[in-house]
Amino acid sequence: MIDLHSHTNESDGTVAPADLVDLAIRSGVEALAITDHDTFAGYDEAKPVANAKGLDLVCGIEINTRMTQSRDGRERAWSVHLLGYFLHEPPSAAFRDWLSALIESRRKRNTKLVARLNEMGVNIDLREVEAMGRTLTGRPHFARVLLNKGYVSSTEEAFRKYLGESAPGFVHRDSPQTAEGIRRISEAGGLAVLAHPIRLGIRDARREEEAISDLRDAGLGGIEVYHSDHGPEDVARYAALAQRLELAVTGGSDFHGDAKPGIRLGTGINGNLHIDGEVLVELRRRDARR
Ligand code: AMP
Ligand code: FE
Ligand code: FE
Ligand code: ZN
Repeated sequence: MIDLHSHTNESDGTVAPADLVDLAIRSGVEALAITDHDTFAGYDEAKPVANAKGLDLVCGIEINTRMTQSRDGRERAWSVHLLGYFLHEPPSAAFRDWLSALIESRRKRNTKLVARLNEMGVNIDLREVEAMGRTLTGRPHFARVLLNKGYVSSTEEAFRKYLGESAPGFVHRDSPQTAEGIRRISEAGGLAVLAHPIRLGIRDARREEEAISDLRDAGLGGIEVYHSDHGPEDVARYAALAQRLELAVTGGSDFHGDAKPGIRLGTGINGNLHIDGEVLVELRRRDARR
């Protein structure tokens, strides 16, 4: 069993990188990718520990992007999460610099978000939010502070009432275009993969395939067929789609520790996940042919 999608407390997870290595070994996960949002800090920290303990640790990243499309005269915007896998060489310095810029743009947004929440009568300051995280501070950390202070009784409520796209507190962040994300990952030597395609929320299977096919034309190399949010029909649909579009297949739990308590490393939600080691063998085979 392997798990190619996980988060540490360097982004919005709650488990420290070295502890995640231990958890993987204890859980029977033979290969693990750390795919923190916008930072390699968790991977960098976990790598020597994984080497010492014999865990196959893969270098990864997750980047939130936006895709806009106009079809039939209508503008539509999607939030698209991209995974990047660096299988044969470490990501370039230029790519790391780009990630720093993304973290900085989030910091600017966070300052505005604090002001907005203050206006709404919420007593919160940036320092206490940043204290929740390490390298990256994002909306999930805001949700934790709102929860701890009793403004809300769940993360879901925090996003619904304050932080989510249709909530009154919402502050826009300039996330990169999906095509730019794909290009940056590829130029840095990585494989760009569409994370949890179910969250594109495209109900019509034909439309969904068109959207993913457009992404492939922009350089997308794979899709996350296996994910905690995918039911058996989704897995079957995405596996078939990957084959038709000649995209690589990946999979992972999207483990965040206590930030998403229902998801377990390796096995997903109520054991709905089991990703065979062959998936990574095949990824590496493809990568070697590039
Ligand atoms: P940020 O990048 O700081 O804007 O935060 C985005 C992150 O917030 C996403 O990666 C999700 O993990 C989380 N998130 C966004 N919307 C929701 C929601 N409705 N409920 C829970 N978590 C969410
Ligand atoms: Fe996350
Ligand atoms: Fe994601
Ligand atoms: Zn994720």
